[in-house]
Amino acid sequence: MLCFRLPRFYRCTWESPVNIHEYQAKELLAKFGVPVPAGYAAMSVEEAVEVSKKLPGPLYVVKAQIHAGGRGKGKFKELPEGSKGGVRLARTEDEVRHAATEMLGNTLVTIQTGEAGKQVNRLYVTDGVDIAKEFYLAVLVNRASGRISFVASTEGGMDIETVAHDTPEKIHSIDVDPATGFQPHHGRAVAGALQLNGDLAKQAANVAAKLYDAFLGTDAEQIEINPLAVTDDGKLMVLDAKVGFDGNAMFRHKDLAELRDETEEDAAELEASKYDLAYIKLDGDIGCMVNGAGLAMATMDIIKLNGMFPANFLDVGGGASKEKVTAAFKIILADPAVKGILVNIFGGIMKCDIIAEGIVAAAKEVNLSVPLVVRLEGTNVDKGKEILSTSGLAIVPANDLGDAAQKIVAEVKKVA
Ligand code: ADP
Ligand code: MG
Repeated sequence: MLCFRLPRFYRCTWESPVNIHEYQAKELLAKFGVPVPAGYAAMSVEEAVEVSKKLPGPLYVVKAQIHAGGRGKGKFKELPEGSKGGVRLARTEDEVRHAATEMLGNTLVTIQTGEAGKQVNRLYVTDGVDIAKEFYLAVLVNRASGRISFVASTEGGMDIETVAHDTPEKIHSIDVDPATGFQPHHGRAVAGALQLNGDLAKQAANVAAKLYDAFLGTDAEQIEINPLAVTDDGKLMVLDAKVGFDGNAMFRHKDLAELRDETEEDAAELEASKYDLAYIKLDGDIGCMVNGAGLAMATMDIIKLNGMFPANFLDVGGGASKEKVTAAFKIILADPAVKGILVNIFGGIMKCDIIAEGIVAAAKEVNLSVPLVVRLEGTNVDKGKEILSTSGLAIVPANDLGDAAQKIVAEVKKVA
């Protein structure tokens, strides 16, 4: 809780992970010496055809670039039933053109995108390889063991959640102690988990070492290779890569931060980050506006305790200005699921009367259409409450956290 006591010196916010496209991930991994097939990004059909000419052929793969997996088995909304998905093999210029035309601008729905799908604005044209076997290999932060871990499975190319559910014994986790860093035995353990021998085992150990370097060197949160393929001529190749970086470390990786594709990010979370608001969309009905991450968590808990679910996590931070409060209200209300809002603010450095003025102004500006319960506590709390009660707005005041949660749940049920 040090951050709450020393707000000037210690910022208590955190950033969401930064994800990048497959083609960007592969370019990055190649720099660390990870074997990937040659390939080029393309933003138009013509560019896709042009870049395919730089590849040796005879097999090309045209891949939709969206921040979601399951593209191969995905479906395009605009194309008739039975059409191919977002990963297509092509053998001629015409086939590359056809695949690119069918994908660009259309909406791809996969098991990871949800029903809305994602519009494909970029393609990746890459060398087609002859696959003998597909594996799964990931490096991630294992929160249970407090280590960086490799997750390896012989069951590659398919949805790893399904493997984990149906055959958990086929998933192996190998922790790396930060005191030793990556050692040759970690590489052998990864190769063993993939049941590889001889030269392929050496290649697997080498890939693991390079992935570990890439993971540390980029402050990654996750590098997921699915599939890691053995080709017909006995080479290990990364055919798909999903990379996410720790958002909090982006300040020291300006080059990586530039790889962000904002069209892929959640619109509300992106808007929130512009105002330095820590916002995460959740599935419930009660919008929450709170200052301080700990108080925000407690507020979400107490909403659940009263039988409803929070629609979001939102920490407006220590210095909640009128502009910030207004932006926060707009972001919460833009979510059609929100049936009521609970504001829970502790006025420490910020005074309660200033916060109350901000809430009233913001509520008027956005034409608040759902019940609003406000719990204020701290400096100038009486003045703050008076501002709320004389505002002419239907704001329900609350005295403490339990009272606030009960009131917002009751108000929402009254309307329903
Ligand atoms: P997603 O996981 O989003 O479906 P992948 O890149 O994993 O996309 O592609 C799906 C499947 O397509 C892979 O499991 C692999 O069998 C095949 N594939 C992908 N890239 C290539 C490639 N360069 N050459 C040959 N086959 C490929
Ligand atoms: Mg894949």
